[in-house]
This record gives sequence, structure tokens and C-alpha cells, in this order.
Amino acid sequence: MSFRKPGFQLGAKEKFFLAIFLIGFFAPLCSMGSSVACAAANFREARSKMVQEIEADVKSTRFFLDREILDPRVMAAIATVPRHEFVPPRQKTLAYLNRPLPIGHGQTISQPYIVAVMTDLLNLSPTGKVLEVGTGSGYQAAVLAELAAEVFTIEIIRPLGEDAGERLARLGYKNVQVRIGDGYYGWKEEAPFDAIVVTAAASHIPPPLIQQLKSGGIMVIPVGTPFMTQQLLLVTKEDEEKTTVRQILPVRFVPLTGKH
Ligand code: SAM
Repeated sequence: MSFRKPGFQLGAKEKFFLAIFLIGFFAPLCSMGSSVACAAANFREARSKMVQEIEADVKSTRFFLDREILDPRVMAAIATVPRHEFVPPRQKTLAYLNRPLPIGHGQTISQPYIVAVMTDLLNLSPTGKVLEVGTGSGYQAAVLAELAAEVFTIEIIRPLGEDAGERLARLGYKNVQVRIGDGYYGWKEEAPFDAIVVTAAASHIPPPLIQQLKSGGIMVIPVGTPFMTQQLLLVTKEDEEKTTVRQILPVRFVPLTGKH
């Protein structure tokens, strides 16, 4: 779930200074209000700093992305969704670092930069219907729900899918439906979709997902060898006979599992 950029990892020393900076910056604000209001303000500030980091990463990867900035609607969605609600309690202080984080069961919530890029590539419309394979924490589904009319998301690990479903409902995301199952086969009853996003690395583009795309529909999927660097692919179903594939950038995702 991360774009591999040399020298981008924060070391222990940098993390320490970042923490000192954040405390120094937010402490005066907190002394003025209640602790709940203070926490909300802290998260808001941290989120807007994360948005700036994503914007800087987009600029530095413009040769891969073929653009300098992402759709402002996508960035507004990233600036809105409370990522701290989607990570385990002990990860909350790290929720707005621009990096993947563990969510249990050997899985991760993806790096915010990657979520933003993948969402941007989907070119969603407010009336659109989108399928996500790999619900995980539900964070990507929440970002999609800010931009499309209907979101369907499939998770193969039952406890993750159930937790994500409850979390999304608690946060008021009424346009998201979560299903437990193998997303390789898509969600036939709800097809066709305007867009499909796969958030785990596949060895190939799953034919059932191509079938479930509308003509003119877009799929974004990491394809390659598990536990190695994969290529993020932009797949466009031109019509029932023709599909085009464009490589976007190298990424590293957990594998797409299941019986296929
Ligand atoms: N989109 C998630 C989020 O916002 O938190 C992150 C997804 S995580 C990188 C990949 C997820 O794909 C894991 O939760 C994993 O269990 C799930 N997964 C792997 N293979 C799957 C499959 N065949 N069908 C559905 N989900 C799958």
C-alpha cells in the first residue's frame, strides 16, 4: 500500500522531532478548549498537514502520474474523512502520517497518497456506482463514498469486513455496502460498475471484474508478484471487445488472496 520512494521513511529521530513539533504546535490550542474539542482540532490540523504532504508527493511523482495536481474533489474528500477513526486505538497518534499502518490480521490501511492517487484515477462522478475489492479498515470506501452515489466493497477476512461495516455505519456513510467474500469474482448482482478499485496485489487482472465494468468504465489495480513491487494499472474497458491498460507507478500491496 505504499509508493516506494527512496529516503521517504521517517526514522526514530524524525518521528521524535515530529511529535515534539506537533505537541508544541497544538498544546496552546488545547489549553483554550475542552479535551474533546481539542482532540478534534488536533486531528483536523494533522489531516490538513497530511493533505499538503500528499500534494507535495503528487508533484514529485508527476512524471508517473502525468499530472501535477489531483482532482480538487478527491483532495477535499481526503481532507474530510477522519482517518483516525479507521485505525486501531494504538495507531491513532500516527493516523495522519502519510504512510500505511497495520490494522490487524496481517493487513494494512493504505498510504493516504496511494488512496488519493487511486481515487483520482477512477474519475468518479457523483452519480457513479463503484466497487472496491479489499475493504480492510473501510477508509478507502469512505473516501469513495464522498465522491460517488453508491459504493460496494468486498472483504475476504470476516472480522475486518464486519468491523469496517459497523465503523462506516457509525460514521454515517449510508451509501456503502460491505460484503464478506472473495472479491476476485466481483459483486455480480450489483454489476455493472462505473469504476472498480482493487486494493490488494493480483497476479493478473481478474476476468470477472472486467466483465462487471460498464463500457467506458475504469479499473485501478496493482498487478505483480506478491511481497515484491507491483505496477499500479489503469484499465479502461473501451467497449465489450476492447480493453486498454496503462502502467501508472510502482507500488507495494498485500496480496489478493482467495481460491483463484
Ligand atoms: N482499502 C483498505 C483500507 O482502506 O483500509 C486497505 C486494504 S488492504 C491493503 C487489502 C485488503 O484486501 C485486506 O483487508 C485483505 O484482507 C483484502 N483482500 C485480500 N484478498 C481479497 C479478496 N480476494 N477479496 C476481498 N478482499 C481481499
